[in-house]
Amino acid sequence: MEHEPYRAHVLVVDDDRLAADESATQLRALGCEVTVCHTWTRAVEAFARLEFDLVLMDAVMPTVDGFRLTKLLRERSKTYVPIVFLTSLADAASRRRCEESGADDLLIKPTERSELGFRVRSMLRIRRLTRQLELQQEALQRLVYVDALTGIGNRRAFDERLTRELDRHRSEGLALSLLLLDIDHFKNVNDTHGHPLGDELLAALGSILAAETRKGDVPFRYGGEEFAILCTGTPSQEAILVAQRVRRTFSRVTREACCGVQTVSVGVCGTDQIDLRACSLVSAADAALYRAKKEGRDRVCLHRASDDPELCVA
Ligand code: GH3
Ligand code: MG
Ligand code: MG
Repeated sequence: MEHEPYRAHVLVVDDDRLAADESATQLRALGCEVTVCHTWTRAVEAFARLEFDLVLMDAVMPTVDGFRLTKLLRERSKTYVPIVFLTSLADAASRRRCEESGADDLLIKPTERSELGFRVRSMLRIRRLTRQLELQQEALQRLVYVDALTGIGNRRAFDERLTRELDRHRSEGLALSLLLLDIDHFKNVNDTHGHPLGDELLAALGSILAAETRKGDVPFRYGGEEFAILCTGTPSQEAILVAQRVRRTFSRVTREACCGVQTVSVGVCGTDQIDLRACSLVSAADAALYRAKKEGRDRVCLHRASDDPELCVA
């Protein structure tokens, strides 16, 4: 089936129905798809729900005028959508307000058809180029922060998030817990079933972590067959429940898979358990993980003060 050529989507905001219809007709003649809103609430709702390439904004409107609405849309938008004022206000002060609100251009009503066409086409060209850059930027961000095998955050993402969450803990006193998970005897899986199957198992654990964790619990691949979950706003006693859930799900899921039941050991530590000036969260969770391995694997261990102090460095 042949694809239709892409049609730019323009939002027209104007409380004057006749003026809005006139703009919409001109834009449709330029090949654009048009959505018209006569109130600021409708405009905010449409802007959140649909994807636009350009906004044509009236200045004088009741309750929230075009200047405030422009600021509002800019704040809420993750992508850069050009906003052009279409107004009868031609004085210098109004021009300044348009600029200060974050608008990209200004057209004075009534607008000549050719003038509107020229400005709209040039704004849509800028939008296309900006969108391309945004998509490239998103793709680069994924390469830098997402682990390709499991689809969850990588070590770099973990390090940066941990630093941010520790800052939040210090400034807001919000509880924070860390789970370190390590697949048991994973080398045997590679040796017995081959690396591709080992990779599948890693990907399966990544999916389990992504599916089993709730909002506020953020999973990462720490490296190799080691994973981490940062449980924000969660004291250690609650983090243990997350760890137990993941541990049980992993053995249940692998029991039904081709390489036989596999298990995972987990070390847990919360900011409520240690003095962060004397001991790092990662070292403390790692010490607990080490104990889980020593005590027989397939278990969750909560950090204890008696855990190997050698591992517990600030
Ligand atoms: P333990 O229970 O003590 O954790 O034993 P283990 O065998 O899981 O631990 P060990 O550290 O001896 O082995 C980890 C293995 O994980 C060795 C390494 O080849 C394998 N590994 C690391 N990254 C990958 C990967 O991306 N894919 C595959 N298939 N294997 C990996
Ligand atoms: Mg390991
Ligand atoms: Mg292991």
